Amino acid sequence: MRPPSSAEGVVVAAVRPRTPAATAGLAAGDRILAINGRRLRDAIDFQFHAGDGRLALDVERDGRRRATALTRRPGLDLGVELEAPRPGEISTCANKCVFCFIHQLPRGMRRSLYVKDDDFRLSFLHGNYITLTDLDEAALQRIVDQRLSPLYVSVHATDPDLRHALLGRPRASADIVPRLERLARAGIRMHAQIVLCPGLNDGPHLERSVRELAPLHPHVATTAVVPVGLTRHRERLPALRTLTDDEARGLVHTIETWQADFRRTLGGRFVFLGDEVYLQAGAPLPPAAAYEGFPIAEDGIGLVRRFEDGLARVHRRHRHVQARAVTVVSGTLYAPRLERLLQAVAPGVRVVAVPNAFFGGSVAVAGLLTGQDIQRTLAAVPDLGEAVLVPGVALRDGEGVFLDDLTPADLTRHLGVAVVPVEPEPRALLRALRG
Ligand code: SF4
Repeated sequence: MRPPSSAEGVVVAAVRPRTPAATAGLAAGDRILAINGRRLRDAIDFQFHAGDGRLALDVERDGRRRATALTRRPGLDLGVELEAPRPGEISTCANKCVFCFIHQLPRGMRRSLYVKDDDFRLSFLHGNYITLTDLDEAALQRIVDQRLSPLYVSVHATDPDLRHALLGRPRASADIVPRLERLARAGIRMHAQIVLCPGLNDGPHLERSVRELAPLHPHVATTAVVPVGLTRHRERLPALRTLTDDEARGLVHTIETWQADFRRTLGGRFVFLGDEVYLQAGAPLPPAAAYEGFPIAEDGIGLVRRFEDGLARVHRRHRHVQARAVTVVSGTLYAPRLERLLQAVAPGVRVVAVPNAFFGGSVAVAGLLTGQDIQRTLAAVPDLGEAVLVPGVALRDGEGVFLDDLTPADLTRHLGVAVVPVEPEPRALLRALRG
């Protein structure tokens, strides 16, 4: 038997009570090395092998190994939560994409923020977009064997030379279509993404990319076109610019024309435009049906529509919400619209647009607000009311801290009023408004 190694297996983060895992005596901190004799490399192996009814687990606890038997009934949750992989366990990219947000972060932030993950496992488990450039044959085969689907793929351009330039001239091949074809042949479903950089991969390049991806539908289920985000920390990086308002309006028109074509030829819209572009263009957001089930809402495709429809339903049901006197924080892009909506639902609630001085540049979305910008802006507001509601999306997953390491509790202390994170979801907002 191979000696246990701390690099092997998966670590239990928590065990839910009254589940098969709890009955079997598993506990947080246990390292599960193998299931039914098959060694585990990561959480995907765990998912893959934990589907059987009878599981023989090889577990390491306090440096000692033991066997644990576990029985699960079909469809019932095992009750195990696994620890997230550590930075050293995540595959990172060797690209230098011209628009990479990580290259545009200021120095001195927490190390984990600079991890350039490009890991197919995170794509499958969490919907992270990956370039597939560094994927070796073994990894490709694993995707196929374990049917890791859907995957989220950063395409940016299908023209190999242009993609090579956009990815910062990596050593590995940037030719994406043959890779997508291979995965499609194996039945893997994918969501493609194009980060649109005006003057580089827009216009005829964008058209070519979309037209070359379309034949891979339905395996390539969607193509998301999202605008490049630029901060003021672009030192020694290629010159880039953001979309002009006219370009944003043109793009809305182009994408809607393509969607109409694809509905006829593919039976679905296939290509979708980021919410930010509609907001910038001042164009009406498409109706919910146009997002075809919101499969890529996490990429900012239809999030606003979903939120606003939910808020409208709340309004129809309750007319006016008896809201506390609170202050709602938003980014400058969405704040005016949120204020209009909330005036109808909860009159008297104050919305404050917080400019993003930390990242500067064109960054105007709520998800990239930092604690210090919120604090500085609110310090100048005379009466914040009973509470301040901050966007939960601005806090790091599971860590409860803003990107600059401040916490809602820090802001509460400085501002003298409760600062409460709220998820971008109408019922959560309603609950927070009522207190
Ligand atoms: S793939 Fe490109 S955008 Fe993503 S982390 Fe690597 S360099 Fe940055």
